[in-house]
Amino acid sequence: MIRNIIAKPSWILDSGWALAYCPKIIDALKDVTMNIQSKLPDLQLTIFAVMTQLAIKHDAINLSQGFPDFDTYPELISLVEKYMRQGHNQYAPMQGVMPLRERIAEKVYHMYGAQYDPPTEITVTSGATESVFAAITAVVNKDDQVIIIEPAYDAYAPVVQLNGGIPVYLQLKFPDYTIDWDEFENAINSKTKLIILNYPHNPSGAVLTKEDIAHLSQIVEKTNTLIVSDEAYEHIIFDGRQHESMARHPQLAQRSFVICSFGKTYHTTGWKIGYCLAPEPLSGELQKIHQYLTFACNTPIQMAYAEFMVNKDLYLNLPAFYQQKRDMFLSLMENSRFRPLPCKGTYYQMLDYSQISGETDLDFARRLTVEHGVAAIPPSALYHQKDDHKVLRFCFAKKRETLENAAEKLCRI
Ligand code: GLN
Repeated sequence: MIRNIIAKPSWILDSGWALAYCPKIIDALKDVTMNIQSKLPDLQLTIFAVMTQLAIKHDAINLSQGFPDFDTYPELISLVEKYMRQGHNQYAPMQGVMPLRERIAEKVYHMYGAQYDPPTEITVTSGATESVFAAITAVVNKDDQVIIIEPAYDAYAPVVQLNGGIPVYLQLKFPDYTIDWDEFENAINSKTKLIILNYPHNPSGAVLTKEDIAHLSQIVEKTNTLIVSDEAYEHIIFDGRQHESMARHPQLAQRSFVICSFGKTYHTTGWKIGYCLAPEPLSGELQKIHQYLTFACNTPIQMAYAEFMVNKDLYLNLPAFYQQKRDMFLSLMENSRFRPLPCKGTYYQMLDYSQISGETDLDFARRLTVEHGVAAIPPSALYHQKDDHKVLRFCFAKKRETLENAAEKLCRI
């Protein structure tokens, strides 16, 4: 009983049962919980959860958190069921089921011409987020510096800090969201252990060009700096552009953890399966963390993906699929007072609202949800100093009618 209570102090402290029957235990536990020194004292609930909760509370159309509101492929669901019925219901190997690692290796070779060895260089994880956590934790030691490019997905800095590392923030240049490579080069020194990249870039929709790759290669060449490359949106890139994966460039691949997501590719964000590609020594260290973080991922889903991903058309057609949604959303918004910024990849569209309001993006996002019934992400939440450019991020991974209804509301403002 006591052990249960200690394991769940917040639940028990909130519960009427505990207050009615165990006041003494509760007093003692309050003292225990008071003594916890937070490792992340300033951290708040992630903006993606905050905005989704606000959207639900006010019954607003949720274009904030990035997930499709249409379903995945019925064939993929049938495959999961098939593998469940065939008895694939126990632990998978820690690194992932071998058929899936083999299919991933084939895909990466097909896409980027890179060879990763399934037994030693590919790890299946609980979403790309787990790979990010494990990769950073595997290599960052106390006082190591880590370059984070803002606006930055909010899963990076806290993990660096948990490991005693020091985030060194650089900002993409507004409004193009390009990297200033001189500034980047100046930020790197002998203490720089890691650079975290995220392309196609969430939230801005920026992508890396060949010139960017040339700058990056030339700068890191003289260093021992490693790269964590979050490529969750690798297949969502528009207007005929090519995704410059770190895997495509051997001199960068040799120092990179390349992290990808099945959820973004197959409309299954809730299944939480992703993977990490890295040379053997890096994968070995990452797996030491992964084996005690989750040990292994959902077996029947891995088996189903292994069979399903043989069909290359689905991921090769993803750019066209989402480009059509981007263009539909943009044309629906043409008569609004929002101004679109370029969206070259991902399923997010940045819209400038400076003609409508001078409010901070946080205040405007809140009011948009509560008063106008559309939720979006305020990017200031993705800057350590809350930089506010009067833009909001809208997710267009939505059904036609959802985008139409949202645009109708937005055009009225
Ligand atoms: N990656 C998604 C986004 O950017 C969801 C993030 C989350 O909910 N943690 O919206």
